[in-house]
Amino acid sequence: MNNSSNTPILQARGIRKSYYKNQIELPVLRGVDVAFARGEMSALVGRSGSGKSTLMHLLATLDQPDEGEVWFDGNRVDNLSRRGRDQYRNREIGIIFQFYHLLPELSALENVLAPAMISRSVLGYFRQRKSLTARAEAMLDRVGLLDRKTHKPCEMSGGEMQRVAIARSLMSEPQLLLADEPTGNLDTETGESILQLLRQLNTEDGLTVVMITHDDAIAERADRCYRMQDGLLVDRFENEPANPASASRGNIATKPLARAVSAA
Ligand code: ADP
Ligand code: MG
Repeated sequence: MNNSSNTPILQARGIRKSYYKNQIELPVLRGVDVAFARGEMSALVGRSGSGKSTLMHLLATLDQPDEGEVWFDGNRVDNLSRRGRDQYRNREIGIIFQFYHLLPELSALENVLAPAMISRSVLGYFRQRKSLTARAEAMLDRVGLLDRKTHKPCEMSGGEMQRVAIARSLMSEPQLLLADEPTGNLDTETGESILQLLRQLNTEDGLTVVMITHDDAIAERADRCYRMQDGLLVDRFENEPANPASASRGNIATKPLARAVSAA
């Protein structure tokens, strides 16, 4: 992998994607070029239906474009084999969704561990169980929820569930987080604490963050915004630097990853 700082960490080139309904073409992405710089917190902003989630699915190789390419860290990823795409998605990026996608029967700790279990053989998982559990606990600690590790999703608030989903996305030590409307289902104050956590992961742990939102006020919290409209990128602008005092004023204490991991 290419770590040179001027190579965009994630890039879409000439992306086109249509859906078909009753053989009628619905063009959703009509030639999108976008490059996200390593280490930044960016926002992809646009009205509902503008194609943001479709683009995110393509960037995550959860779906394939009709035309165009996706590059991660100097390597093309959209044309990899299914296995190669799974590896890219499981190792290099963390994905967070509006509705958390937690498994209701599992505890917070088990939810954080679930992708690690699924991606290993039973034997492989049991061999690494201790270190994986320690890492999962460290990630729950990172998001300020270690004391809720035995709670199931129905016993948690929306903000807590999103924190668990963020902890889960950190398990594989990704370089980049893709978050689709991460605060979309939360009240303003809880959403604010999730935004602050994403900002901390960006500034303290060096993760690149790409946040998708329909809300201009949330997009303004990123370093850089890309605006989508009707399947096209129509604007790109930088925001004023965030006030460091307000960025660090989280209402749940969190520890940077390095400390959290070494403490495990
Ligand atoms: P956004 O995330 O910006 O709200 P989406 O990418 O979810 O937008 O959707 C863009 C457009 O594509 C919408 O008009 C939506 O109805 C349509 N769309 C999304 N997914 C599908 C699908 N699987 N089949 C058909 N149409 C879809
Ligand atoms: Mg969407």
